[in-house]
Amino acid sequence: MPEPALDVRDLVVRYGAIEAVHGISFDVQAGEVVALIGANGAGKTSTLAALSGLVRPARGTVRLLGRDLAGAPAHAIVRAGLVQVPEGREILARMSVHENLLLSGATDATAMYERFPILAERRALPAGNLSGGEQQLLAIARALLAKPRVLLLDEPSLGLAPKMVASVFEVLAELKRSGTTMLLVEQNALRALRLADRGYVLELGRIGLTGTGAALLQDAGVARAYLGA
Ligand code: ATP
Repeated sequence: MPEPALDVRDLVVRYGAIEAVHGISFDVQAGEVVALIGANGAGKTSTLAALSGLVRPARGTVRLLGRDLAGAPAHAIVRAGLVQVPEGREILARMSVHENLLLSGATDATAMYERFPILAERRALPAGNLSGGEQQLLAIARALLAKPRVLLLDEPSLGLAPKMVASVFEVLAELKRSGTTMLLVEQNALRALRLADRGYVLELGRIGLTGTGAALLQDAGVARAYLGA
């Protein structure tokens, strides 16, 4: 087995006296899409925040291509190649689409305009004028410009109309086909597990189950708890 692109061991996240994540371990191989699913409050966002340096892990290691980034500042983690598409998208509404793309630190956004023609059409508009789905594409494009080795996605379908959810997942499927390594946090477990090579189910800050996306989709407990079956 080659070294994982992302290898998380014994990760603990605390907010003061509250422990939200109780020592979880998981990995993502290069080229793999891994889904982290779980109910509200299971610790999905806390896990991503610890990976991307928004909160400092209380314990554990976060190895990206062998290098431990646990506790490193957020900008160093991005520079190392662990790049998050944030929940809620964090688009700067009054800046143009183009200016938002350049916030990645890139000086040339041509590749993203080729990949997402809708962004090219809208490049001079204030980002706040875009639909929710277009803003999500913009956030993904901005993250890609930072040249991720592993792309972290926090609830990319949150708050989107069903049609836009489908089109965001189509973009993720395309990224997967082009070899992008992704860790996807989603409440839309059905779509996440259909896309993912493997998944982990987070329950109250612990990993309950793990398996291939296909196996988890067929698990009766997963179906009951997360697929509305
Ligand atoms: P959601 O999908 O609702 O974001 P989640 O699975 O991402 O849920 P987290 O947001 O990581 O879960 O929350 C995990 C636990 O940590 C919850 O019990 C939550 O109340 C707690 N928590 C999260 N952020 C904080 C904070 N800043 N201070 C204190 N407790 C927090």
